[in-house]
Amino acid sequence: MSSGELIYLDYNATTPLDQRVLDSMLPFFTEYFGNPSSDHVFGWQAAEAVEHSREQIARLVHCRPADLTFTSGATEAANMALFGFCEKNGHKGKHIISCKTEHKAVLDCLQALEKSGCRVSYLDVDSDGNIDLEQLQKMISSETILVNLMLANNETGIIQPMKEISEIVHRHQASMMSDITQAVGKIPVNLEELNLDVAFFSAHKMYGPKGIGALYINKKNKVRLGPRNFGGQQEKGMRPGTLNVPGIVGFGKAAEVARADMKAEADRLQKLRKQLESGLKRLKGARINSYNSRRLPNTTNISFEGIDGQQLIRKLKNLAVSRGSACSANEMKASHVLKAMRLSEELALSSLRISLGKFTTSEEIDKAIAEITKSVQQLKKAEV
Ligand code: PLP
Repeated sequence: MSSGELIYLDYNATTPLDQRVLDSMLPFFTEYFGNPSSDHVFGWQAAEAVEHSREQIARLVHCRPADLTFTSGATEAANMALFGFCEKNGHKGKHIISCKTEHKAVLDCLQALEKSGCRVSYLDVDSDGNIDLEQLQKMISSETILVNLMLANNETGIIQPMKEISEIVHRHQASMMSDITQAVGKIPVNLEELNLDVAFFSAHKMYGPKGIGALYINKKNKVRLGPRNFGGQQEKGMRPGTLNVPGIVGFGKAAEVARADMKAEADRLQKLRKQLESGLKRLKGARINSYNSRRLPNTTNISFEGIDGQQLIRKLKNLAVSRGSACSANEMKASHVLKAMRLSEELALSSLRISLGKFTTSEEIDKAIAEITKSVQQLKKAEV
């Protein structure tokens, strides 16, 4: 996607709305403005649209519609999931297992839970970002109530073997929670097959609107969460407050579009990423992180040895790329994900996350390669 000369390559931070999504939402700001809790025609119309959207999303992630609760996004859902789980299940044990490479939305909740008496163990990853299933087996004890691990990493795109992980976790009678935000819409996600107990994701990573997400609670597995908010019976009391109907409708449409387009789009993006990586690999000192692992088709993370990533980004005037997750990209600190993969502080600071999306073209990739190459070479010359 270009805006004038600008090329957007930060689709893991957020995506523009798909036109079909916008069209589906507009009538719900005006004609169908009703409150879905109202017991009259206006309310019924809105409530019907909300339930239709829940079904569209459930079809995308293969779950029962009733197991989805609408939230304001993945961060709110992560808070509801982690605090709500510990509140209801804390009497069974106080131990949680997660990983050093999780998103801040999860890590900050875990830190707060540690302060309130939970014990959290963080799995390591290898230099490609893979977790070690043996370490997980060794860490789980009878005190472990929950394992929380993301399906796909937002910075490197690495995909963890969630089915195997959840089998291990359930064998030990613990519950399995996953941040599936970056995976949904990009790769097939089948919640039933993965046998997750709790999961969360967001519309704005898949061409839906910002400010709407979902919390999945597998009621068949008898998982119970306490509510975080109080004030009404919306969403069966799990998330009270008037529903964001236009957002929910857009989320549903985005799910429908993703389901139809995913296979062809994933193949196209993988080809474009190959073009990008082949072009950038020619630069001396360039290293593609998580290259040997199963990754999201749209994501690449590249270190440029001897280059300051912040300076590089400032030079890339026509490119929107990032140094890490959008929540921490403005921090001067090295990415905690890359550091966990044992990159040196310096190498981690030299890295860019480049994430492609449905408006990315081959011409844009060629321009991006040329601009990054020129900027890296200029920065190298300035050092000499
Ligand atoms: N989890 C992951 C992996 C993400 O990439 C993000 C967004 O950056 C979030 C959670 C937070 O999502 P939201 O912006 O919907 O709160």
